[in-house]
Parts: sequence; C-alpha cells; structure tokens
Amino acid sequence: MAIRPEALLCPRPEGLYCPPGDFFIDPVRPVERAVITHGHGDHARSGHALALATHATLDIMAVRYGEGFAGRAQPLRYGETHVRDGVEVTLVPAGHVLGSAQVVVRGHGLTIVVSGDYKRRRDPTCPPFQAVPCDVFVTEATFALPVFRHPPDTEEIGKLLKSVEQFPQRTHLVGAYALGKAQRVICLLREAGYDKPIYIHGALERLNAVYEAHGVKLGPLAPATSEDGEDLAGEIVVAPPSAIADRWSRRFADPISAFASGWMRVRARARQQGVELPLVLSDHADWDELTGTVAELKPGELWITHGREEALARWAELNGVPARPLSLVGYDDEDV
Ligand SMILES: [Zn+2]
Ligand SMILES: [Zn+2]
Repeated sequence: MAIRPEALLCPRPEGLYCPPGDFFIDPVRPVERAVITHGHGDHARSGHALALATHATLDIMAVRYGEGFAGRAQPLRYGETHVRDGVEVTLVPAGHVLGSAQVVVRGHGLTIVVSGDYKRRRDPTCPPFQAVPCDVFVTEATFALPVFRHPPDTEEIGKLLKSVEQFPQRTHLVGAYALGKAQRVICLLREAGYDKPIYIHGALERLNAVYEAHGVKLGPLAPATSEDGEDLAGEIVVAPPSAIADRWSRRFADPISAFASGWMRVRARARQQGVELPLVLSDHADWDELTGTVAELKPGELWITHGREEALARWAELNGVPARPLSLVGYDDEDV
C-alpha cells in the first residue's frame, strides 16, 4: 500500500529529507548522509559525513573543496541502485552539466524523482535528461516564465564566430561559469568547426581537466595569460564572468565582452553588465522544456524547489497536475 509522498521525502531546513532512508538530497548544511545531484555550489557542499553522487560529481567536488570534502565519498553509476532501509536510490542523467543526475527515490510503493537542475536540449558535455515515470516530480523553476525561451545553441555560437570574423583585431572575451558552461561553449565551438587554440583563464584549468578525464574532448587549449604578455588579438578567451569585469581583462586587444547565460535573454541585464555580445546559452530548462517535461511525465504531483515557482505551479494546475511550491532556501542558481 502506498504512503503519502511526504512520508518518503519532505522539505526540511537542511534540504529534502527521506525519513525511511535517513538521507538528504543536496543539503545546504552538513549532514550525516547526502545524495548530491551535481557539482554546482548551491547543490554540492562540503562537510557531509557521507556523500553519494556520480563519479564525475565527486571528482568535481574534490577539485572545488579539496580531497577531504566529505567523510566518505560513495560513487554511484547512472542506472545503478543503492538500497538503504528498504528505500532505493538510483541516479539517472539530468543533462545539466558533467555528472549531473536526477535522484530517483523508490519506497513503500512510491516513486519520487528529484531532478536537481536540468535541461532537455542536447549538450555535448553530458548525457541527455532521462524521463522517469513517477508519482511526484520535483523540479527547479529558474526560467519558469513564458518569456524565457532559449534559442538554439548553434545560433548563439554562430553569433560569436561571426563577430570573431568581423573583428579580427579584437580579442573576444567570453564570460562563462567555470563548471559546465565554459566546457559547453568550448565543445560547441569545436562542433562549429573552430579548431584554433582557445585561451582559458587559470580558474578553469582543473575543471577542464576533470571533463577531459571523463571523456569530454575540448581540443587545443592554452593559458590566456602568457609570460610575454601577448594581447591575443583575433583570439577567443574563455573566463569566469567575474574575471571579465576585472582588471584582468584589460590586458587584451580592444576586447569584446561576451557572456554566455540564460539571463542574456533579458536585454536590460546584458546592458547593465556591460556585455557587448550577449549569448543566450543556458544549462537550465526554459519555459517550453519545463512545461514539456511536466506534460511528458504527467506526475501525480509536481513539487517545485526554487525559482519562478508561481508561474509553473499555475501552468501545472491548469493542466491537471497538482503543484506544490516548496520554496527551498539556499539554491540561488548563479551558474545559469
Ligand atoms: Zn546547477
Ligand atoms: Zn541549482
């Protein structure tokens, strides 16, 4: 006989908690047992006694926090099931960044899927989102407004390459978050046929190495800051967004600042940040992907963790799926 979903998973100040299995998913405070969906800072934190995640996510956490990021780190392959006190935990791809997983929790006749952060479009750096039928689907809602419709990634990368062609004397500085976006931009450039060295900020080096170690080919990369102070005219430099605004960026030849983010859909935001070449590239589902996923899964209930919860909850209710905003605190999704 099935129990109430809240008996299998419930929001606590630390994060989503599974009482029968005694573990948290993406807890924002140190706990005994944590299942981690992916390596972004608002989901993966250090200091848990046990951290269970994909191998890639654990490698990313080791790079970000040091080897001792958890008392014990337990890797789980996609599709592999870990059983604890009658509760089954399975990780399946979320299509968000390397190593990202949805957590499928099964117990007492119920299936709850916690998607973490996800997107539905193809990404050369990680396996695609896998739809798992469930009683409760737990979703993020970062871009849950109809105004958020991300264009095809080839279009956005095309804009960058066209600008490089048009302004061969200038350096193109591409701001991209260090985990996921930077590597995706690099892979998309390679797919578009760009085979010159791509210059990278030092802060990206170790994460790039994790991607390479997990089989994601980034092509020829070179450090953006050389001893002889080359100004890299005509080249593409990829750096964390903070570095673009910094004096670090002044060394380059008449730089054009680009920024790869879902927020670049909001023109005022791009202008405010002084971005000359906004690239709408997001690792989060847009409005169509969010609503399409709910329509495809038709879960018994939709729980919404963070973001624009009201709009998605309304859409779900209108489409016959009872929705519940959880308003979890501590997930800010800067890394979009
Ligand atoms: Zn994320
Ligand atoms: Zn997030």
